[in-house]
Amino acid sequence: MVLGISRRLALIAGTALQISILFYELPLNAASALAAWHLGSDGVLKLRTSRGANLKAFFQYAQSGNGDRVWIDFPGELVRPRSLPGNGPVKEIRLGKPQKGFTRLVIEFNKSISIDPQDLKLVGTSPDQWELNFGGIPTNGLRSIGEGNLIRTVQRRSERFLRSSSYQSLTISDLPNIPQGRYKVVIDPGHGGPDSGAVGISGIRETDVVLDISLQVAEILEGKGVKVILTRKSEIDLDLAPRVVIANKTRANAFVSIHANAKRRSTRRDVNGIETFYFSGKKGYRLASLIQNEVLRASPGSPDRGVRRSRFFVIRRTNMPAVLVETGFLTGKLDSLRLSQAPHRRNLALAISKGILLYLQGE
Ligand SMILES: [Zn+2]
Repeated sequence: MVLGISRRLALIAGTALQISILFYELPLNAASALAAWHLGSDGVLKLRTSRGANLKAFFQYAQSGNGDRVWIDFPGELVRPRSLPGNGPVKEIRLGKPQKGFTRLVIEFNKSISIDPQDLKLVGTSPDQWELNFGGIPTNGLRSIGEGNLIRTVQRRSERFLRSSSYQSLTISDLPNIPQGRYKVVIDPGHGGPDSGAVGISGIRETDVVLDISLQVAEILEGKGVKVILTRKSEIDLDLAPRVVIANKTRANAFVSIHANAKRRSTRRDVNGIETFYFSGKKGYRLASLIQNEVLRASPGSPDRGVRRSRFFVIRRTNMPAVLVETGFLTGKLDSLRLSQAPHRRNLALAISKGILLYLQGE
């Protein structure tokens, strides 16, 4: 961990804790060891990884139009490569898979910023926590940016999440403002009536969970000046085709179908997670990504199952950007306990609303 790779590529890894005896290599198909990252406005990058993960950090001087770059490689493969715009001294942050079985986090600085690799040290502060201080750079204009929760959440004590500081608890005032009366959104609570949808642990029913969340989303969006059309407002039986008909009549800006997941033919209570589907188009993808991000932040510990393309009827046949969000697994120990709690459903409603408002704001 101390050798340079080439003259222009100095390895900057160093650890305060001697954790080399804990190093292990994940199998090639393993999930990414990177669990969360956060670059604070103080210029400190914090990471959470699997315990004892073997990280390698690198630095590269500016070249061919790019600014100085620092990157960190993690074992385990990233599901969803992505890039996030930076701010202040940071140009861009990218998460990618440089090769099969690996995850790479790249921080690229603006060309005006020069980094002295001597100042950089990746320090293990606990078996699953790391820090890299960019203290040498001017941090003016740097706003905190990150993904996931730096504090590891313990599944058996999921009720603690509602009180823990890592929990992204939203209020109405956290939601972005958009011009009043300009936008229309269709909210589609999945299932209903005799079709209860998934039934999970302790008999929790998808239709009840998603109707409660959907009605709250509608109320929150109305409060922000969005015209909302609900495909159903109560426990009625509503087929998929009429949902599409309702939506297509409205000329809405977006269609959001709200569901909760179940693991069929299995008693896998360890399967939890959030996923959002879209059918086609950049807009559909953007809407899905924004909702997925917010719902993940409201669901610490639930794995990110990603933004995915799907041919679900309601999102395929609707004629506006349309997504279907799965707010968690009713058959999963962690998700079901949370989905059964009203404060969590409120927070999910705020998270979904925030995703929708961010989308509308960019329209
Ligand atoms: Zn469903």
